[in-house]
Amino acid sequence: MPELPEVETVRRTLNQLIVGKRIERVTVNLPRILQRPDDPLLFAAYLEGRSFVAVERRGKFLRLVLDGLVLISHLRMEGRYGLYGQEEPTELHTHVIFHFTDGTELRYKDVRQFGTMHLFAPGEEWQAAPLNKLGLEPLDDSFTLEAFRGALGKRTTKIKPLLLNQELVVGLGNIYVDEALHTARIHPETPASELKRKDQERLHAAIVETLAAAVNAGGSSIKSYVNGQGEMGLFQHSLKAYGRTGEPCLTCGAEIEKSVVGGRGTHICPRCQKPPGGSGRASLTGGSLKPRSHAVKRRLEGAGQ
Ligand SMILES: [Zn+2]
Repeated sequence: MPELPEVETVRRTLNQLIVGKRIERVTVNLPRILQRPDDPLLFAAYLEGRSFVAVERRGKFLRLVLDGLVLISHLRMEGRYGLYGQEEPTELHTHVIFHFTDGTELRYKDVRQFGTMHLFAPGEEWQAAPLNKLGLEPLDDSFTLEAFRGALGKRTTKIKPLLLNQELVVGLGNIYVDEALHTARIHPETPASELKRKDQERLHAAIVETLAAAVNAGGSSIKSYVNGQGEMGLFQHSLKAYGRTGEPCLTCGAEIEKSVVGGRGTHICPRCQKPPGGSGRASLTGGSLKPRSHAVKRRLEGAGQ
């Protein structure tokens, strides 16, 4: 599934390929991709005669700016764009085609059919789903340590699911969350509220560093991701935790372990990323042991939510 670096690579590529091109007509082969409007004829009618002005990104969403309209596109699992000549045969699973006046075509292909497209009048896209609840943009200047700490707040959610949910920070998926937490030496099940200031600092730096490195390398490619020009990403060999189950941690040599956190396959170094609360925590909170002092009891009640 493309994460921020892959989507950024697609954005840069599309920006080179389609800006300035004018849409003559639009073919929709699979209406379910369209969310707003969901009527293919209306969708096509809005777009016809308009030109692409810029291709931008918000989190994992592409923001394709046209003259007088904005198209928000999410690739989800396997969506991809490609620029073709109109004479080239249409491949299977091509669901939306933007036919340009110069004889080329932007084709949206999506084997899994989970991708989405929303059309908005310029500016309206920020007020409505899917962009209106998105969190901090991690490669933006506004992603300061203080902004990140403020967003973490006193949330007691485990840090991995919290980072995957796009309302705190956008753009991180399963791969880069595992990478960032590994770099920051934080166990994915640590409640956000238990992160010390130093943990927050390391995590903030690790998120920026991990994503920036991946963007510079052209996005990582685990399975079938291809950028807008059909090139595979280059970053997959640089992953330190994700997909390295049983291989040695590059920091300490311990074997990378795979477990499940919040329903997602999760890769950690058991030595560098200690579970929250130290080794005694599980027996204290999980068993029938009664705390002896009120202070301990209060602490357990506070942590038990
Ligand atoms: Zn390690």
